[in-house]
Amino acid sequence: MPTKVGIIGWPLTTTLSPAMHNAAFDALGMDWYYDAMAIPPDIVREGILEPQRHGYVGLNVTIPHKEEAMKYVTPDDVARAVGAVNTIDLLEMIGTNTDLAGFMADLAAHGVDVSGKRVIVLGAGGAARAAVVGLCGAGADVRVASRSLDKARTMVANLALSNIRLAARAVALTELAGPADMIVNCTPVGMLPEVGATPWPDTVPFPDGVVVYDMIYKPARTRLMQQAEMHDGRAVGGLGMLVHQGAAAFERWTGVAAPVDVMFDAVRAQLGLNDANGAANDEDTRR
Ligand code: NAP
Repeated sequence: MPTKVGIIGWPLTTTLSPAMHNAAFDALGMDWYYDAMAIPPDIVREGILEPQRHGYVGLNVTIPHKEEAMKYVTPDDVARAVGAVNTIDLLEMIGTNTDLAGFMADLAAHGVDVSGKRVIVLGAGGAARAAVVGLCGAGADVRVASRSLDKARTMVANLALSNIRLAARAVALTELAGPADMIVNCTPVGMLPEVGATPWPDTVPFPDGVVVYDMIYKPARTRLMQQAEMHDGRAVGGLGMLVHQGAAAFERWTGVAAPVDVMFDAVRAQLGLNDANGAANDEDTRR
């Protein structure tokens, strides 16, 4: 019998995680198996406890259960700071958040140093919280802008209560003019099929020479990434974050170094990025 891990979410129609993790287990000759379980929002507790009863040793948690899962496990310091769990060790019933580690690992893989940099975070949801905690921890000066200024303010105020170094403030989307070094998109705006959309407000001039990090990986090159390139900037898509957060979960459960290249190949194959056209659109996603 293989050792089992898996992912819970809802409706969980397009997750890449099973292909990514099962490819890693196969490559290392490990008798492990990663399953996908569609769990509706009213039974998240059972969605965590039932797999545990059936011998699963770990879970990933995805949209929309990351905050709810905090109630049924002991969150570690990272999960507490971010306010969301995306990885559970079912043997210890400890929850962590590897989105933060995945984001920071991918920045490092692309040689992006955020220390002392002026960073704009677009969005105020779970991924934005992970980004803000990571960016502030690395010494960035962060502005958070969301379509709801109140949500951005609440997010920053809640983060200020946690035990992290926080240099972040909430601003309205209309107040984004002026110098910036980096923009991080933590909204779904620009994701397939809405590929013509951008989270950057039409009324604000796009800053020159910024690094855009777009957490979206479908498509590999979003409208926001194109805007950065048109303004002498650089663009990085979210595929590497996906792989690095998965690698962190893999290592947490197995205690074995994750085969990151194998995991990249698996998600790129799932996304059809291994053909010539996809590869051309994905030059800066792989490190
Ligand atoms: P979330 O908690 O639902 O937060 C989404 C944020 O985007 C909220 O601030 C929301 O504003 C805003 N938003 C949603 N639709 C919008 C629209 N049409 N216009 C402007 N703002 C909008 O989601 P999340 O978990 O933070 O994920 C955010 C994005 O990051 C998603 O695209 C997700 O796929 C991506 N992500 C990628 C990775 C990766 O590994 N690459 C990991 C995590 C997340 P309201 O609160 O006002 O609705």
